Amino acid sequence: MKVIEFTNKGLYCPPADVYIDPWKKVNYALITHGHADHARWGHKHYLCVDSSVPILKHRLGHEMSIQGVPYGEKVNINGVNISYHPAGHITGSAQIRIEYKGEIWVVSGDYKVEDDGLAETYEPVKCHHFITECTFGLPVYKWTPQETIISDINSWWAQNVADRRPSVLTAYSLGKAQRLINSVDSSIGPILTHGAIEKMNDVYRSMGISLPMTQHLNAKVHKNEYKKALIIATPASIGSTWAKKIKNYSLGAVSGWMAVRGNRRRRGADRGFVLSDHADWPGLLQAIAATGAENIYPTHGNTHSFSKYLCEQGYNAQPIETEYGDDNLEKAEE
Ligand SMILES: [Zn+2]
Ligand SMILES: [Zn+2]
Repeated sequence: MKVIEFTNKGLYCPPADVYIDPWKKVNYALITHGHADHARWGHKHYLCVDSSVPILKHRLGHEMSIQGVPYGEKVNINGVNISYHPAGHITGSAQIRIEYKGEIWVVSGDYKVEDDGLAETYEPVKCHHFITECTFGLPVYKWTPQETIISDINSWWAQNVADRRPSVLTAYSLGKAQRLINSVDSSIGPILTHGAIEKMNDVYRSMGISLPMTQHLNAKVHKNEYKKALIIATPASIGSTWAKKIKNYSLGAVSGWMAVRGNRRRRGADRGFVLSDHADWPGLLQAIAATGAENIYPTHGNTHSFSKYLCEQGYNAQPIETEYGDDNLEKAEE
């Protein structure tokens, strides 16, 4: 029996009869993390890591049947050992290790190797077969350390305060927004948030994660406050009536995609800050080498060119078709 099969519902483990991050409804889903393209609604039962439970419940409903396990703890299903290991992508993100009769597979989900000070730090896991994301699987993608990017954001914010201009920064509501809030210099001014982000901040705080003080930007906040504030907004909220209340602001966009020429302008942003929750090119190669795996299956992005490169390096690499990496799913929720 194959340990992992690639099916039209998602990655399937026949001996355990479970799917990993399936995109169609199934009975039993192992979930790597809370982003919408990985954690979908409608499965009968969910298994994830402890710190992902509150996030999944918040996004998919409190009535769902869900079980959380600590990182590293083995769950045995029909002789298959399943365990979750930190992926460093967002809080509660995991690589899933699946071991059956001595054969080990690891499904990475999304990951990054840089420690961002908030998500559980990525840990390499030894395996024979590694299913890896490769969102930024081209040599042009090389990230500048977070410290430098955050210091650029702080300088931009401080300059806007001096100019009495609000600073609006766009970031995904789950993961990126909290990473920014946790890292910026909150002595510069107040941090105001879009409602979707503030609700997610509440989920983080309910888990005992202490984030600097933030306030939901609503009618109660005096407009004078805007000029000193860092306003964290979702990408989809720009152009909404909520954002139109903020006048004459400087717009910054935070994303790995800001590394691509023209993207900043297309989003109408004054500043683009290249900060990603995905591994860059060196990060991907480092992570793949660290698994010791010979068989690599890239998902997300440039899977064909990335596989070709890996084959040239002596790996047995083969791209697989998945429905991950669809940013529109995230935008639709915001
Ligand atoms: Zn993700
Ligand atoms: Zn993904």
